[in-house]
Amino acid sequence: MPELPDLTVVAEELIRRTAGRTVREATAPTPILLRSTPEELAALAGSTVGETRRRGKFLLIPLVRSDGEQRILAANAMLAGRFWLVPHATRVRARTGLRLRLDGDKDLRYVDREMLGKLYLLGPDRLDEIPGWSEMGPDADDPELTPERFHERIRRHPGELKPLLRNSRFVAGIGNAYSDEILWAARLAPFRRRSTIGAEDIDRLYHAMRSVLADAVERLRVLIPPNIETQHREFLKVHLRGGEPCPRCGRELRQIGGREATTFCRTCQPPL
Ligand SMILES: [Zn+2]
Repeated sequence: MPELPDLTVVAEELIRRTAGRTVREATAPTPILLRSTPEELAALAGSTVGETRRRGKFLLIPLVRSDGEQRILAANAMLAGRFWLVPHATRVRARTGLRLRLDGDKDLRYVDREMLGKLYLLGPDRLDEIPGWSEMGPDADDPELTPERFHERIRRHPGELKPLLRNSRFVAGIGNAYSDEILWAARLAPFRRRSTIGAEDIDRLYHAMRSVLADAVERLRVLIPPNIETQHREFLKVHLRGGEPCPRCGRELRQIGGREATTFCRTCQPPL
């Protein structure tokens, strides 16, 4: 599932390669993935692509229509949704929720093998209609999310640390992979409850969150372009590396759960 670092770099690449381009034609081969109307979709022909940005786990692609009206294409990719930027004739063997034929030789397509993601096409003042949008907390890399504000916010969110980091009402943009990385960097067990950690632990968690995400963005800037549909996780230190030695202490990393696995080190991240 794409998380803050992946989507940050995809947004940068989309700005570089699609901003200012004209949409020649907009179609939805698998219409169920797109929350819109056929009229709204057809009206995208002739629109100009603006600068893509990320908010939480959403990519927001502004489209200025030829009548001057702006629409935002908001994508929540969930598990397997990806944007592809490919030559017009490319065949993609998966469900395509949206195909924007751009001027030049490329299509911008949203492809989703699992069909779990959602696309929304809305006016810029209607993003609140997206489920969960208005409850979203600050982005995990938001400059205004200071250590003080992090301390203040975490007090309002009880429960175990891993689900807490993944809760977009607390901080937005972190999922299963980067929550493992952050907790390992902070030396905090994923199952510890927020009520059992002190101010120093919270500081460590904050700084681990910032540095893990910033380092990943740096790595991904090298790895992702030009293939924005690919996911790179090979540089992660612990996530899905159960059974391998912990890069810090050398003991075997533990992993529990299946598809949504949690990986951690019982020595570096003691239960209490
Ligand atoms: Zn360890």
